[in-house]
Amino acid sequence: MAVFCCICLIATTGFSSIPAKHGRAYYESRGEVIWDVPTDEKVIALTFDDGPNPKTTPKILDLLKKYDAKATFFVIGFRMDRFPDIVKREVAEGHEIANHTNDHVYFKRSVGQDTIDEQLRIANRKIKELAGQTSPWFRPPGGFYNDKVISAAKRHGQTVVLWSWNQDTRDWSSPGVRKIVDKVLRNAQNGNIVLLHDHVSGSRTQTVKALEIILPELKKRGYRMVTVSELMKYRRPAKANGHQDTAAAQPPSLPDYAFPSFK
Ligand SMILES: [Zn+2]
Repeated sequence: MAVFCCICLIATTGFSSIPAKHGRAYYESRGEVIWDVPTDEKVIALTFDDGPNPKTTPKILDLLKKYDAKATFFVIGFRMDRFPDIVKREVAEGHEIANHTNDHVYFKRSVGQDTIDEQLRIANRKIKELAGQTSPWFRPPGGFYNDKVISAAKRHGQTVVLWSWNQDTRDWSSPGVRKIVDKVLRNAQNGNIVLLHDHVSGSRTQTVKALEIILPELKKRGYRMVTVSELMKYRRPAKANGHQDTAAAQPPSLPDYAFPSFK
C-alpha cells in the first residue's frame, strides 16, 4: 500500500518530487536544462537511454539506417566497457553519443558533489575514447536533476538534456507496443525530444517493434529524425519564443527508471 501511494504521489506531482530548486521555466530560460527545442522545422530527436545492449541496439541501428534517421544514445559507462563495438558502430553510422553516467546513479539530493563529478568524469572519458570526442549533453538517470547536478554538468562543459513531457514513452515498463507507438505519433510535433530505451532491464523490450511503426510514419509525415546537437541548430531565436510549447503545458509523467531493478 505504501508503495502504491508513493507511485500515485509521483504520478500526480511528477517532477515536483524531484529536488530541483526552481521550476522548468527558470532552468529553461537560462538554457541550463532542455526539454524541447522550439523550432519551425519538422525535426524530432529520438533518444535512447541505458545502452548499449547487444540484442536490442543493433536492431535499432538497422531500423534507423533503413529510415535514414539519426538518433542520440545516452549511454552508460559500464555498459560501454562491455559492448564497445556497438558504441563504435553508433558513431560510425552518424549517431550521437551522450552521457548518462557510469553506473546509472540517481542524483537525489543526498548524493554528494564528488559522486556526481566522478560519474560524469568517468563516462565522459569512456565516450571520448570510443567516440573520439566528448559530448555536450548529459542526461541524469531518472531525470533527477538539481542545482548540484546542473553545476556539475557545467563544469564538465555539458548541458542537461531531459525529454519532451509529451514524449515519455515509458517503454522501460513494457506497456505494449501500441502504447509506445501512440505516445510518439499522437503527440509528435516540431522540436520534440523522444525518450526511448535501447536497454530495458528485467523485462521484454517492445521498443524495436514500436520503432518499426514509428519511424516510417514520422518520415511519411515529413519529419526528419536528427541528433540532439542537430536539433539545437534549428532552435528558434529567443525573442521569437514567446509561446510556451504545448508540450511544456502538459504535466510530466514518471521519469525513466522510476522503479529501478538495474544491474
Ligand atoms: Zn536511464
